[in-house]
Amino acid sequence: MISRRQHVLGLLALLGAAGAAALSRTFPPVRPRRAAPRRALKLPIAPSGWPFPGARLTAPVAVFPPDFGLRRIYLDAGHGAPGNTGNTSCFCLEEQDFTLAAAHALAVRLNATGRFEARVGRTGDRPLPYLERVEDAARWGADAFVSLHSDVRGKPEAWTPVPDLQCPLSLAAPGFAVLWSDEGSPALCALRLALARAFARRMEEAGLLPYGGAAYTGLYEADAAQPGVFVDRRPPGQRIFVLRRPAMPSILVETHHALDAREATRWTEPATLDAFAAASAAALADALGGAPAAASPRPT
Ligand SMILES: [Zn+2]
Repeated sequence: MISRRQHVLGLLALLGAAGAAALSRTFPPVRPRRAAPRRALKLPIAPSGWPFPGARLTAPVAVFPPDFGLRRIYLDAGHGAPGNTGNTSCFCLEEQDFTLAAAHALAVRLNATGRFEARVGRTGDRPLPYLERVEDAARWGADAFVSLHSDVRGKPEAWTPVPDLQCPLSLAAPGFAVLWSDEGSPALCALRLALARAFARRMEEAGLLPYGGAAYTGLYEADAAQPGVFVDRRPPGQRIFVLRRPAMPSILVETHHALDAREATRWTEPATLDAFAAASAAALADALGGAPAAASPRPT
């Protein structure tokens, strides 16, 4: 008898581009907040754009300065900490499993450039406290700390992606978000902001959709200069550990909305991981290679 996890992973493996096309035809209709029977239902983005199946991604080209050398990038596969498995996606996949796969996929691709040495702190064989990850990154001498997550936004409905499996679904708020913290020394904060903006800029260039931030009120504040970038505005004491604690510049990438079946499906495609990895390499080259930040961080 196969476990639920094996069942879902099997489903995800089957969902290639053809599966995505089939899946896109089977979504339940999006319900408007108020009844509007004579008006067509509006999806938040045009059907030709991301994350619909036909939307193509491109690979941004990294520009390395001559003295760039080999940079060490610590990839934090979000969650998988004691008592912390993260969200449950629209295919009932746990966030800790998504981030582990995505981090390893990104590491392989960054290492293949010959410009980076990427290390994934978490292997999945035991829960790993966040403090251990931050200390590990410091001991290893990481030049940057990139935490990968998926997000959940809005009020989900229940749907049944496969028989006997009921999962949460919300199609209202797709897109990526890059989070950073302005808590710390001005010099370190400037590096974090430059890294966050570079990631969002290059992900947008790849064709990924920056999230607008409607669900972030009271949590994160949108950057004035770059769509998809947000600074942590939770109450002090509740702010994200991996954004304020690492000694090297750190960011958190919410790669997509885990409750959006279109976007979650696209993130099972190797082409999406390829484009994201190219965007990440280009962003790291921009930010670590000495390219000036678009603007200095705002005062707190
Ligand atoms: Zn998360």
